[in-house]
Amino acid sequence: MPEKPEVITVSKTLEKIIIGKIIKKADVYHDNIIIGDVEKFKKDLVGEKIESITTRGKWIVIFLTTKALIVHLRMEGKFFFRNSSVLKSKHEHVIITFNDNTDMRFNDVRKFGKMACLPKKEVFNIEPLASLGLEYNDKNLTPNYLVSALKQKRIPIKTSLLDQSIITGIGNIYDDEILFLSHINPLRKSNTISLDEANAIIKNTSIILKKAIKMGGTTIKSFTSAEGVHGLFQNELLVHGKKDGLCPICNSKISVIKIGGRSTYFCPNCQK
Ligand SMILES: [Zn+2]
Repeated sequence: MPEKPEVITVSKTLEKIIIGKIIKKADVYHDNIIIGDVEKFKKDLVGEKIESITTRGKWIVIFLTTKALIVHLRMEGKFFFRNSSVLKSKHEHVIITFNDNTDMRFNDVRKFGKMACLPKKEVFNIEPLASLGLEYNDKNLTPNYLVSALKQKRIPIKTSLLDQSIITGIGNIYDDEILFLSHINPLRKSNTISLDEANAIIKNTSIILKKAIKMGGTTIKSFTSAEGVHGLFQNELLVHGKKDGLCPICNSKISVIKIGGRSTYFCPNCQK
């Protein structure tokens, strides 16, 4: 599943291709991808110009003239760019056609992706973006903030770091890497995390996400952000995905367990 670095990679790709284009029409072939009324979504986009693109958590936020088009790639959503005359393929569920007769096509084999068209001025203050937690680079992300957010939680820290209402942007891959570098066992109860450990989590989140963003994210089998886009961070992963691998610090065998249904990789020696 794309996490913050991959989402940033996609938004940068979109910037290069669609800024300045004007939307001629939008076609929706799978209604569940759209949050809210599908007919209104289609109508609201017509005539709007693509002005700028940013991200909030794992959402891509495309600012238009008066609206904001927000997109969550979820498991496998990606964008294809086609000439409008090219026939639609099976997994293209939303097609946005521009005035220059080019399309931005949302391709999503598993159909978990989400899109909404919201008023531009309020987009960050209404759902689904309103309830998101702090970004990895927000100055308000302090050890005190994190410890207090975890105070009532007895669930594993691995699961809490996936909770987008605390820190937004972390997914399963970077979660494992952050806890490994922080020497924290992924099963640790969230409410037992100390200020020093919270500080390590925040610091390592920033280090890992910044590096991954610089490298274009992680390309894994289910994720290529948009056509022709490949991240390189998969070569930098220390524990995630290293089944039968050895810890790069102590040479112990990497453990793989399920936490909250998510495959979790860690070193039982370094992360006691
Ligand atoms: Zn180790």
